[in-house]
Parts: sequence; C-alpha cells; structure tokens
Amino acid sequence: MRFKFCQQCGKELSLREIGDEGLVPYCNSCERPWFDMFSTCVICLLWADKNKFALLKQNYLSRGHHVCVSGYVTPGETAEQAAAREVKEEIGLDAERVDYLGSWFYDKRDQLMLGFAVKIPQEKFSLSCEVDDAEWFDLEGAKKATQGAAICQKLIDAFEQKI
Ligand SMILES: [Zn+2]
Repeated sequence: MRFKFCQQCGKELSLREIGDEGLVPYCNSCERPWFDMFSTCVICLLWADKNKFALLKQNYLSRGHHVCVSGYVTPGETAEQAAAREVKEEIGLDAERVDYLGSWFYDKRDQLMLGFAVKIPQEKFSLSCEVDDAEWFDLEGAKKATQGAAICQKLIDAFEQKI
C-alpha cells in the first residue's frame, strides 16, 4: 500500500528525497515519512516425516487445490511463534520443530510471506472453522495437490533442498 495521506493528521503527503530511499511520501506537518506498507505473514508446510505432509482444503481460498497453513504475524510475536500458533489454531496440533525455509513476496495482496517447515505429530486433526478439510499426502501427492498454489510449491522445493 502506498500512502497518499498522513495516517496521523490526514493531510495530503508530498514527495521528499530521503537518503538512499529516493522519493518517499512525507507529511510536512508531522515531519515524518510514510513508507509503503505491506503485511507480514507466515506460510507453513506441515510434515511428519520426509514423505508425509499435511495440507488444508480452504474453500474460501481455493476450491481447486490444497494449501499450506498461513496467517498474519501479530504485533509482539516472532515469525516462528506465529507459525506455531497458526498451526495450532488451524489443525489443533503442536509444532515439534519450526525451520525457516525462505521468503516470498505475494504481490497480489502486498504480503511478505515468511515460509517455514513445521514438524507435527501424526495425530488426529482438530480443524478450525476456517478449514474445510485436511489430509496427509506423500511428497509427489503434495506436489500435485498444490498445483496452482505457487508459494506452497516453492515451499515444497525449499523443503526438499534444506530439510
Ligand atoms: Zn501528518
């Protein structure tokens, strides 16, 4: 999101040269810049062993393919805490291990997606109301089930290289 108006006083911003940043929207009354804003999110590939992955069906996101657990980082928590919290909220299982895999920018929604592999026990899911279904897949099955979910596919690639 690019700001046109000051978020503190509401005045229209003008562009000002700020160091290496170039032209940045600036409020002359509050004397502060308003840098472009984006959200910080986590996206988690759930695994029990290297050939066992849990993926979600969330019809409000896609009816065609399965997705990874994802959600917003909230103020005050680390990305790793957000990953474990989202996993607990969405499928009801405790993270045994959280490994950072990489980050991707999702232009469509202005979201920086921090990707994690989250190891979970192979137990019964307790799904949140935002999740329509969750299933276990082997590696090849997970790749097929996430076709159309670009960042999930990148997470699986990164998992194969790093874990
Ligand atoms: Zn202002």
